Amino acid sequence: MLDRYGRSIDYLRLSITDRCNLRCRYCMPEEGVPPLSHGDILSYEELLRVAEAAVALGVRKIRITGGEPLVRKGVTSFIARLAALPGSPEIVLTTNGFLLAPLVSKLREAGLARVNVSLDTLRPERFVAITRRQGLDQVLDGLEAATAAGLTPLKLNMVPIAGVNDDEIADFARLSLARPWQVRFIEYMPVVDDLGYPPEARVPAAQIESILAGLGNLTSIPRADVAGPARLFRYEGAVGSLGIIPAVSHHFCGECNRLRVTADGRVRPCLFSNDEVLLRQSLREGADSDRLQKLLAATVSAKPERHRIGEEDFTPGNRPMHGIGG
Ligand code: SAM
Ligand code: SF4
Repeated sequence: MLDRYGRSIDYLRLSITDRCNLRCRYCMPEEGVPPLSHGDILSYEELLRVAEAAVALGVRKIRITGGEPLVRKGVTSFIARLAALPGSPEIVLTTNGFLLAPLVSKLREAGLARVNVSLDTLRPERFVAITRRQGLDQVLDGLEAATAAGLTPLKLNMVPIAGVNDDEIADFARLSLARPWQVRFIEYMPVVDDLGYPPEARVPAAQIESILAGLGNLTSIPRADVAGPARLFRYEGAVGSLGIIPAVSHHFCGECNRLRVTADGRVRPCLFSNDEVLLRQSLREGADSDRLQKLLAATVSAKPERHRIGEEDFTPGNRPMHGIGG
């Protein structure tokens, strides 16, 4: 599937729930969000039909996200069904890691290939301050359990926020010395305008890179695949690697290969675009696979050339990350 700008779209991010067991300040309000009703979110059957249509159009990788995907009941059987679709797409997962350890063997058996775990601090009190919940130990157990189960290469995603956890960039980077993880630093994004931290709290990629470079001999790793936004590095002798995702300061839109489907059945052409195409109604009115493929293809055609964060005409979107899936 090629879009208007010649980009090949082969990656689907599928959000399976808007609910979450944490309340990260940059993503959700303290009281949570009014949950979508059962009938508002796509059933697993419906999500499978969307995935099947996407795979028929050339999607090769499906990332399950949320909200927190592991809070939705039946997620492991759903993953098994996705992995068994004709075309055998690669199934990966983004999670906050809280429920990962108890589920890891079932996820592996179901056919999950890899996992990305989001974690913004290694300090227990700070974990509570950022996520408004206890749970650092569970997440750390999840990281080790996923590594032992072979859900690798495991990516550990940290969002540095100035004055909140930017003093831990070095601690996270040092994890890559002894653990076989790709520790990635993601620039904070002003997706909506009433998040827990102001846009200026973003730690720019250049600053992250200079902190990393100050810790040791950092070499650049050429990327195996052109798709994907991370710039990769490694310290001499390290078991793991490092990544920086300059989501705002150097947009990677030219390499964008993704479509996003929200838990309530909207396809988004871009993380920052509100031009959503509604799938849910069509699914419930009996749309066949051809019709679904046309709707997905229409969204691909609507992909903008690039986002406009930081420019005068940028307006934040209408959904925070928990409603899109990151
Ligand atoms: N709950 C899962 C998790 O936290 O990994 C999956 C969904 S979460 C919305 C996906 C990713 O979005 C997480 O890595 C989170 O840190 C990131 N995220 C949320 N809001 C963000 C923001 N404003 N800027 C940058 N990343 C953000
Ligand atoms: Fe939940 Fe993930 Fe949002 Fe944190 S970032 S509140 S874990 S959805």
